Amino acid sequence: MIVDPRTAAVFFSVTAMTLLVLAFFSFRRRLTPAIHLWLASLLVHAAAWGLVALRGEVPNWASTILAFSLLSLHHALVLASLVRFYHLPLRHYWPYWPVPLMVAVLLWCAGNPAASQMGGSLIFAVQMILVGVLLSTRSDPWPGLRVVIGGTALAGGALMLLRAALLLTDPGLPKELLTPSPEQGGIFLFGFIFRLVFAFGFLLLLEAQRYEELRVLATRDPLTGAHNRRSFFESAEQEVARHRRNGEPLTLMILDLDLFKQINDDYGHLAGDQVLREVKVAIERLLRLPDSLARYGGEEFCILAPNTDAAGGATLAERVRNGIAGLTLTLDGKSLQPVTASIGVATLAAGEPVANVDELLARADAALYQAKNAGRNRVVIAAPAICAAAPEGLSAALSAMK
Ligand code: GH3
Ligand code: MG
Ligand code: MG
Repeated sequence: MIVDPRTAAVFFSVTAMTLLVLAFFSFRRRLTPAIHLWLASLLVHAAAWGLVALRGEVPNWASTILAFSLLSLHHALVLASLVRFYHLPLRHYWPYWPVPLMVAVLLWCAGNPAASQMGGSLIFAVQMILVGVLLSTRSDPWPGLRVVIGGTALAGGALMLLRAALLLTDPGLPKELLTPSPEQGGIFLFGFIFRLVFAFGFLLLLEAQRYEELRVLATRDPLTGAHNRRSFFESAEQEVARHRRNGEPLTLMILDLDLFKQINDDYGHLAGDQVLREVKVAIERLLRLPDSLARYGGEEFCILAPNTDAAGGATLAERVRNGIAGLTLTLDGKSLQPVTASIGVATLAAGEPVANVDELLARADAALYQAKNAGRNRVVIAAPAICAAAPEGLSAALSAMK
């Protein structure tokens, strides 16, 4: 396949410029360091191919040494942008080391197009492989997207290595970038695919990350990171629907920290906030994977335990109560007084009819109210048939259920 190299160079330059303008207006209000670097990479790419397209019109060194050094800078900026995107703990200058190397190789090989092309291809190969390796070794919620972009970069690196090998072994191969040849045509075609995959892939990665951030904002409580009320109700509706369908038991509990106002009064609101965060972490450690924890209100949390019957719910509630009471809380090196919690537990037994989440919540709330009235730091189990208070633990509740 023959592609006119000068036309391809104009095409690369114009598409990079167009993408740059579109991306700039789209991301103008949220220019993160990763986006900045990506936009810079597009600008440099447009300039590099513009210089190649202008060969004959601009000094020779500009359309060769400068253009190829800029292309190397473009790959370095792409890598730097990914390093920032994934918050890798690397020094900022690390992705740029191939650029001075490229300048040195091109200066050293000036006047020898075959050597320049070979050296340039090897450096591009390393740069593309680094991009591919970085993308393929991350862990994020979008493996498919990463594998496609990373795989294309690895394939590009392999192609550049092949080109360097061909330049070394096949003396008939054109040594000038602007001399049309089937091999050159293949390289340009792949270059086009790579640009397309990388540009759209990176845009999709940015959007996927944005979506994830918004999802967290919409479903999590900003102070503790637990699910928020809205997310809790969504999960609870789903679990009640599952209970209706499969008849699986379901336990819901409301937990309210005891005399929390006193903590704020004694140590200040920031200390109170810290306690809320630590309590959340402590509770989460005691839950199983399908269980979920939400911050229902100020110092109130809800726990949803799917497929958990009354006995299981009571055991879990008691474990959580004990876990909180046993927390060692410190502030600026000084230990705070222990925190305790009262817990109301409501269970939908297997097959038990229930109107809705509000009804289950009302049962748990009534049980919590009883726990508070009975002296706090205790678990009360609410059930339509059995409603037992556990004065200092679980045993009374369990024996009442037998
Ligand atoms: P009880 O045992 O009856 O629940 O007593 P309490 O003091 O915990 O209950 P009360 O409803 O009187 O006070 C709840 C306190 O929780 C009041 C408020 O200062 C505190 N609180 C609510 N939300 C937050 C928060 O986000 N941060 C902090 N630091 N405190 C909070
Ligand atoms: Mg409260
Ligand atoms: Mg309270």
